[in-house]
Amino acid sequence: MNDEKKECLVCKRDSNQVPLVQLEYQNKNYWICPQHIPVLIHNPQKLTGALPNAENMQAG
Ligand SMILES: [Zn+2]
Repeated sequence: MNDEKKECLVCKRDSNQVPLVQLEYQNKNYWICPQHIPVLIHNPQKLTGALPNAENMQAG
């Protein structure tokens, strides 16, 4: 159950290298580093391929 890989969904760095923030999306957990939180907020379409349906997410 606990085998989700904790790494930034953008840059793939893990929590040994950067602080990671947990996201819950579509009942799944994802992790993102502070450097890439602005991407999630302002350019979620750039996460296409990393998050399902990212191309349909609205920029904040
Ligand atoms: Zn990152």
